[in-house]
This record gives sequence, structure tokens and C-alpha cells, in this order.
Amino acid sequence: MSLPKDYRDQRCSLARSLEVLGERWTLLIIRDALYGGRRFSDFVEHLAIPRSVLANRLETLVEHGVLAKVSPSDRGYSEYEITGKGKQLWPAIRVLMSWGDEHYTDGEPPLSFRHVHDGGQINADGICTVCNEPVALADTLATPGATLKPRSDKPGAITGALLQGHRLLEDVRSSAAPAQSSAKS
Ligand SMILES: [Zn+2]
Repeated sequence: MSLPKDYRDQRCSLARSLEVLGERWTLLIIRDALYGGRRFSDFVEHLAIPRSVLANRLETLVEHGVLAKVSPSDRGYSEYEITGKGKQLWPAIRVLMSWGDEHYTDGEPPLSFRHVHDGGQINADGICTVCNEPVALADTLATPGATLKPRSDKPGAITGALLQGHRLLEDVRSSAAPAQSSAKS
């Protein structure tokens, strides 16, 4: 008897979620979208993912309403925007990253998350260690650790934003041009 290729016969909601999220690369794409990555080319650069695989994963995520494909009128291309449904995945991704930090990084995580208002470290439960409050996704600052290294001399928009510290959900490209606020968008 051959193994089934998917979880369609499973009743557990975890299996249902994994039908959408369980393929290789998918959670990394969602993570990058939560960081504020929006462009196909930026995902390609940051993830070093084959373009055809990325196109396939994006299509699935748009189909399931995790990402929305938008076409800003002032730009000649489409972008991918994380939806409310996609943002709900942040705690799960944060916990998985924290688990990886604990077990696979020798105590030097490449990235840590801080509360934008007081700089407090956000713990695995999503609580700020300074004010003891749960921190909303949009109030989360990704700050680079010593082990965060760009893959090339010319880091792309997502890597560039993370290397200088970046507020989640903000467009990585607006943060790459410091002190220009929102004048261009
Ligand atoms: Zn705080």
C-alpha cells in the first residue's frame, strides 16, 4: 500500500493547516512577508529559492488568503501582502524560531525580537521582558545578532532591512531608505 500524498483524510485541524503550510519553503515565505517583504524578486534573493517553486508556493498562499496579490497603482508590478489570516501565523512562527534558537544556534541567534516601545526582549511566549505585556506583531522590532550574515556583498532588501533592525510588517524597501518616511508611497 502506498503512502497518501497529503493529509486530506485526516480530521485534525493541524493536518488541515499543514495542507496549506506544510510544504518546504512555505513558512519561510510567510516569515519574510511578516518581515515586510513584498516583491517576488526580494523573496527570491532572500531565500535563494527556485523561481518556479516560489511561484507555486505564492499561488497556494494567495489561493488560501494567507497572502494577497496587490498591484500598487504607482508601480508596474504586483506585490504580495500578508493578510489578517496570514498575520495570525506570527505566534506559531515566533515559537518555531525560538525553538530553533534554543536547540540549534549555540545560544547566538541570528535575529532577536524586541518591543518597539521600550526595547525589551520578547520571550518565547510573546511577552516583553521589560513591560511584561504581550507584544503585537506590528510593535515588534527584529534586531540582528552577531551571527546574521548577508549572503553576498550586496544584500537584498529583506537582508538589508534586517541587518539594520526592522519593524515587522513595514515594507522592507521603505526601511532600506532611512529617514524618508512615507513620502514615496
Ligand atoms: Zn515592553
